[in-house]
Parts: sequence; C-alpha cells; structure tokens
Amino acid sequence: MYETHIFYSVLAVSWTEFLWELYLSVRQHQVYKNTTSVPKKLQDVLDNETFQKARSYSLDKSSFSILKEIYGAVLGTAMLWSFTFRIFWDTSESILVKFGMEPSELMVSSLFILLLNVFNTVLSLPLKLYETFVVEEKHGFNKQTLGFFVKDKIKTFLVMNLIVIPLGVITIMIVKAGGDYFFIYLWLFGMVTLVFLMTIYPDYIAPLFDKYTPLPDGELRTQIEELAASVNFPLYKLYLVEGSKRSVHSNAYFYGFFKNKRIVLFDTLLKNEKNADKGCENPEILAILGHELGHWKFNHVTINLIIMEVNLFVQFLAFSALFKYQALYSAFGFESQPVLIGLIVIMQYVFAPYNTPVLIGLIVIMQYVFAPYNTVMNFCLTSLSRKMEFQADEFAKSLGKASYLKKALVKLHKDNLSFPIYDWLYSAWHHSHPTLLQRLEELDNNKQD
Ligand SMILES: [Zn+2]
Repeated sequence: MYETHIFYSVLAVSWTEFLWELYLSVRQHQVYKNTTSVPKKLQDVLDNETFQKARSYSLDKSSFSILKEIYGAVLGTAMLWSFTFRIFWDTSESILVKFGMEPSELMVSSLFILLLNVFNTVLSLPLKLYETFVVEEKHGFNKQTLGFFVKDKIKTFLVMNLIVIPLGVITIMIVKAGGDYFFIYLWLFGMVTLVFLMTIYPDYIAPLFDKYTPLPDGELRTQIEELAASVNFPLYKLYLVEGSKRSVHSNAYFYGFFKNKRIVLFDTLLKNEKNADKGCENPEILAILGHELGHWKFNHVTINLIIMEVNLFVQFLAFSALFKYQALYSAFGFESQPVLIGLIVIMQYVFAPYNTPVLIGLIVIMQYVFAPYNTVMNFCLTSLSRKMEFQADEFAKSLGKASYLKKALVKLHKDNLSFPIYDWLYSAWHHSHPTLLQRLEELDNNKQD
C-alpha cells in the first residue's frame, strides 16, 4: 500500500520536473523564434549575418533538447513501470549463477552497475550521434570523425566503469559494516574520493581523452606568466589542449590545489592559420584569464567544494535514515533490501540528478527521493554561480582589463554562435553565467579604465 504511494509520488515528481523544464524550454524557443533582428544594444558589436547564424543554430539546438527531454521522460517512466532495476538485478544474479559464481550482494551489485551503464550508454547513443553529426555538424562545430567518436565513447565507458564499480563496492561495504553511524564514514570516504579524483583527473584521466601540451614559449606565454605573478597566482603549469579535434567551441580554465595551479587554454581560443577568422588576440586572452584569476582570488572553487561536502553530508544522513524502509524497495519491485538499490532509489528519486560519476551508486536513491531537494539546491547553486561570474569580471576590471574582456566576450559569443537574448525565467533557472548583455552592462558600470 505504501509502496504504491511511493511509486506514484516518484512518477508525479518526475513528471512535474519534466513539465516545468519543458515549459521553460518552450518559452526560450519562442524567444529564438520571435527575435528576428539584432537587439538595439548589440548593434555596434554584432553583425546581422552572425546573429542570423546564431539564431538558426539556437533554434536547432532548442528543438533537439525539447526532443531529448521528451525522450528522457518517456524512457524514465517506462523504466519505472517495467521495474527495470528488478530486471537488471535478477539478470545479474542469473549471469553469476550461470558462470558458477556465488551471487553475493557485492558481486551482483557490481554486475548490476555494469549492466545499467551499458543500458544507459546504448540508449543515449542515438541522441549523441544525432547531436554531434547532425546538429553540430550542420552549423560547422563538429570536428569529430565517426572513428574518433566511437573510440572516445568506448574509452569513456571503460574509464567510468573502472572508477564507478570499485567505488560502488566500497560504498556498500561501508554501509554494511559501518554500524549506526556509517554515514559519517561514508561521508569521509566520499570526501577523500572527491579530492583524490580532482587531483588525479587532470594528470591521469583527462590526457586519455585529449592532448595536453605546454603552451609554447613566446609573447603570450610570457604575458600570462607576468599576469599570474602580478596577482601572486601560483602558476605551476600552462597547457594548451587540443579541443579542436572535438569541436570548434572555445574555452579556458584553471585547476589544481594549493601551490600547484595549472591554466588550460583551448587551442580554439587562440588565433592561428587554421582559425584565421576566429579566436582572440593576446590582450583579449589575458582579459579572459583575468576573469579566471578572479575565480581564484575570491576562492570560488573552495566555496563550491565546501557546499558540495555539506550537501553530501545531508544526503548521506538522509540516506541512513531512509534506507531500511521496506516500502521504498517494494515500490521498485524488491522484496529484499539490497544496499545498492537503496542507494540508487534514494539518490535518484529522493534527491535530484547529481551527475558526478563518483556517486553513481548513490545517484539512484538520491535522485528519486531527493529530487525536489536537489532541484532547489541546483537553483541556488546556479544563482550563486552567476554572482561569482560577476565577481570574477569585476576582478578582471580591477586589473584594467574591462575593455578587452568586453571584446573577448563578444568574440567568444560570435565564435560559439551563442544567442544573445533569453527569456528571464529560462535564464534564471538554467544559466550558470550571466548573459552577454548583463556582463557588458556590468563591465561598463563605474568605468575604471
Ligand atoms: Zn567565470
């Protein structure tokens, strides 16, 4: 009886979220449709041809994402309705038995994670293919060959499972052996894992997928080093990543703990022979880095990390309170209480999507039970992120880089064919960065240079 309530609550929550997202997407789609000429405020920086290209790209992307949302909702419902988790669990058990192995909870859970990942990868493949080779291709962004795409997906799948399955196994062991306060050990384990993955990712995982080379000596390198030194940024290494093998979209970021900070520039950000009409001039790149250094100066990474840790603690605590509740399992077709299913159901249905692979085992429980909590949390984090972006812009401005940053932002906007106008509600919900117009306006305020 309770399980039926849980089942329908989960469905209701999923569909409420889906309809809300769909409503926002349709609102934004209307903006793309109805804004047919360059907005007045951008007339001196944006030409009509680029604007029309951006509009057509945005319309295609938006139609595709609406399609993707509908696909996701239908699939999610079908999975709930057919007790997919139960089917995968039983399949894992019988495979183990077939191979003469003991179907212990740890073994079944490991195989279950693998099967679920195969399932998700296969189901998302048609969408990924269409997105890369139809939508992105049509607008000139895709640089992947089919061979690169296939190899990339296989590598992603292997690396993900090599990380996720052991994490899942350790998590289950902690839950089973940790006693009443297992959530504290689980949290400590989660914290260590997160920091560990953040430390090894750039040196050992990211290079499996893309080529990182030190930025060659020259004017740009010297200027970046000078800029870093002028604000006491502990620049340890300076890389160029070959993003151009994937797509023409461009970016720059920094990472690393304590004194080991690295800056990564996408090669698409730079001007070169292949990229003659795109890319930024050196002073513009320095302005972008000025913005990135602002994120460092104001400790934005640390703040986000602390929020994640607190959030993780709340989720594990809630999990420990909920996970012995039988109705939660019955709602998903289980008479027993496998830890993994408890984790998945609470993470995935009770909380909202928390798409870090570290937590895949936990995702399901967190995602469904915490869905409403996660939605509110994500909204707050998105708003916070926009505040941080303004702060970082402000820092670049204090370095005297406002006018170059403005130029760079407009250029990146053009190169990426981003659309400049947004529905306010869509923007408030989805945007981690303020819009181009908001940023230009803010950079113009109380001009300092
Ligand atoms: Zn930023």
